[in-house]
Amino acid sequence: MKRLNPLLVAFLFLLPVSLRAQARPINWDSLTAETLKTLSSYLQINTTNPPGNELTAARFLKGILDREGIEAQILDTAELGANRANLYARLRGNGSKKAIALVHHMDVVPATPASWSVDPFSGLIKDGYIWGRGAIDMKSHGIAQLMAMIALKRSGARLNRDIVFIGNADEELGSLGGITFVQRHADLLRDVEYLMTEGADNVLDSAGKVVYFGVGVAEKRTFWQRLTVNGVPSHGSRPTPQNPVPKLVTALYKISQWQTPLHVTPGVDKFFRDISRTYAEPQRGWLSNVRVALDNPRAREWILSDVTWNAILRNTISLTVLNGSNKTNVIPGVATAEIDIRLLPDQDTTEFRETLKKIVGDTAVHLTHLANTKPPLESPIDTDLFRAIDRAAHEREPSAFVTTPMETAATDRPTYRKLGITTYGFSPFRIPRAEIQRGMHGNDERLSVENVGYGLRFYYDILRYVQ
Ligand SMILES: [Zn+2]
Repeated sequence: MKRLNPLLVAFLFLLPVSLRAQARPINWDSLTAETLKTLSSYLQINTTNPPGNELTAARFLKGILDREGIEAQILDTAELGANRANLYARLRGNGSKKAIALVHHMDVVPATPASWSVDPFSGLIKDGYIWGRGAIDMKSHGIAQLMAMIALKRSGARLNRDIVFIGNADEELGSLGGITFVQRHADLLRDVEYLMTEGADNVLDSAGKVVYFGVGVAEKRTFWQRLTVNGVPSHGSRPTPQNPVPKLVTALYKISQWQTPLHVTPGVDKFFRDISRTYAEPQRGWLSNVRVALDNPRAREWILSDVTWNAILRNTISLTVLNGSNKTNVIPGVATAEIDIRLLPDQDTTEFRETLKKIVGDTAVHLTHLANTKPPLESPIDTDLFRAIDRAAHEREPSAFVTTPMETAATDRPTYRKLGITTYGFSPFRIPRAEIQRGMHGNDERLSVENVGYGLRFYYDILRYVQ
């Protein structure tokens, strides 16, 4: 028998290995079923915050990661308190590019079972939906991230970037989980370039078609303040100038009348330009150059009549808590108020506070910070991750566009952004607005079964394209 060329033998021997190094095909039907089952189990773990009990959730996730051979650690149990934890995992790539982190919070807000039509911790699958507290916010999101990462691992696809998976405790209350993680484990995040978590919605039309995908690149900063006026307590039957309540009320009135300046940040400018195509003239023209439109009284009135648009175009102040006397006939010794200030990400806090003091114009009114102000969040748009999201979005919804709305509420993102990580808010699902409105922090929170598979594949594509 003729001897085989040893090079050919080596080639034939190596061929299947090199083919195996290519991505193995994924059976999406069975992976989607597995994802649905995993999500159902995850929803059955009651991580209502308070108290959180995220340790059970972290153990559940670690069990899955262990079985897949993905290194995972349960962290910060001592720092976060009884039955609480953060979870960290890493799927190794070849290290030629920096890592991408997928972050979700394991805790959920409380549910009132009597107001639900199903048990909020049943993870029930019925009528084409998966039901439970966290089905939208944001256990579903976490499981889509997890299973997309697992799919990449199983397929053997080449990864240039490590994929980091993080489950945080306590996002819904004090963000203690995210803050502790960043403080104690900055080393685990040193090579992370990109991070994806909640913080943006995709907008659907009435027929359920996606109009646009939101990528949250910026969010407002809370800058909560307490106003305190001291006085002299006495009987209400004899009015005195030392009553602190009128001074406080005067200060609050001035604040309520203050029209904070309008200011267009780059992401917001892009957002209005992007959505302008969905409007007819003259609105289309106004939105395509919002800076100019804000000088036109008619355009300005129309734009600012939308409470969200108003909030992303200026620093806002809502008067909320008021404390004077608790008895009609008693002039109190002190009167306080709390105001919810939300600043645009590029604002200087010291400067804003000085302006606020000038507006109040009364040294008897003392201002104190109520909570730690988070670092500003504004991430760049011209990135490989943004392009990967854009590509994956266009493939599934060719008529939709990707834009950059600003989040008016607060998320854990600034905590991570502080480390220099480009941090995006993202949703992998197509959820009608009414469903978000009703379910998120409300009753009968649920996600369509169709969305579970959609979100899984959306994440899978983004993670592949960003390599
Ligand atoms: Zn959330």
